[in-house]
Amino acid sequence: MGMSAARSLRQRGLRVAVVEREGPAAGSTSRAAGIVSVLTWDEDDALLVKRSAEVYRELATRYPGRFRYHGDGMLTVAQRQETVEAMEPRVRSLKELGLAVEDWTPAQAKERWPHLKMEDARALWYTPGDGQVYGYDYVQVVLEELQGHVDFYFHHPLKEILLEGGDVAGVKAGDAVLRAPRVLLATGVWTRKVLEPLGLTIPIKPYRTQISVWTADEEVRLPILHDLDLGFYWVPDGHKIIFGDGTEHVESDPDQWKDYNDEDFLLSAGERLARRFIFGEEARLQGGWAGLCDATPDRHPLLGAYGPQGLFVAVGFNGFGIMRAPAVGEEAAKLVVGEESFLPKEKYGATRFPSWVDFEIQEGFNVVR
Ligand SMILES: Cc1cc2nc3c(=O)[nH]c(=O)nc-3n(C[C@H](O)[C@H](O)[C@H](O)COP(=O)(O)OP(=O)(O)OC[C@H]3O[C@@H](n4cnc5c(N)ncnc54)[C@H](O)[C@@H]3O)c2cc1C
Repeated sequence: MGMSAARSLRQRGLRVAVVEREGPAAGSTSRAAGIVSVLTWDEDDALLVKRSAEVYRELATRYPGRFRYHGDGMLTVAQRQETVEAMEPRVRSLKELGLAVEDWTPAQAKERWPHLKMEDARALWYTPGDGQVYGYDYVQVVLEELQGHVDFYFHHPLKEILLEGGDVAGVKAGDAVLRAPRVLLATGVWTRKVLEPLGLTIPIKPYRTQISVWTADEEVRLPILHDLDLGFYWVPDGHKIIFGDGTEHVESDPDQWKDYNDEDFLLSAGERLARRFIFGEEARLQGGWAGLCDATPDRHPLLGAYGPQGLFVAVGFNGFGIMRAPAVGEEAAKLVVGEESFLPKEKYGATRFPSWVDFEIQEGFNVVR
């Protein structure tokens, strides 16, 4: 998010410095599966994804071999009648927006991808424009694009947000003092800790989710899959399948958390892989990891002015920030320069939660809500 916003701010002619505690893409961005899907549960989010996919495609054309927007679209599967009913209005509203969401039958899916197992599927939606990107690669190409135009302070942990007369005046980061009238925080799961010294308690809860990587003997010919009732997604890439779930609904400490897989997640991932992929049982576990996502009370991001004059946030992406990042960067840049965003304030504006409210962590990328 920080690099996306830097890109957009720079395009507007502003002088920008990026301050990062570690190296490029050090946070959740490098741990994501990277699905980019318009089949979200909010029309505004769907538009953010649509715009982000345009940017990703453009970068993929500009940086061949270094950055890909790839995949054969995404298939979303429902087994239970309640899930189908919950999805119908969602799909309708996205179609009304002009987004490509197609109703498919299991037979159609099987014909297109013979290695899929779809006999028990009650409804299927195919989103042909969906794809996948690796967050790390995105950050690397944006970094290259911005070199010489933006000042980068890697390995400079933010120590203090400087205030003068109550307004933002810059930051202290590592051994540097940077004077700036506007500071945008894109510090993900660490944002609550970052804001605490200012006496602000932003309602962000870090929660853990997992990925396991499986290898097949041959190249896997499958779509990206989101199985709503078995509760997982997968992304095929060459001989690999990146399988995601294992989401926890409890808060994690962003400075001390378990960054490797739970055994029960690995077992159930293997079982579920075999439920939908005919060669699933032969697939070999190659590795995996856990990562953190930042939950907000209503699962919408917190975007725009927050706290003292000159401070802004772009946080709270609830497990699906990669698919919205370039477009969120554009919207955040508008807000920083005092322009209006198309995103409604009551759903995205950071000040809708000016202080702490407690809430239950819910699954982020869950289109049924
Ligand atoms: C397992 C997993 C799978 C996912 N799959 C998907 C997916 O398929 N599609 C999708 O859209 N999203 C996915 N996500 C979500 C996605 O990864 C996040 O929404 C997104 O990466 C958030 O980006 P960010 O820039 O807000 O946060 P981050 O990438 O975490 O960046 C925050 C940065 O702030 C820096 N920072 C923190 N504190 C300080 C400080 N004091 N000083 C300086 N720098 C600091 C950190 O080092 C970090 O680099 C997934 C997440 C996980 C964990």
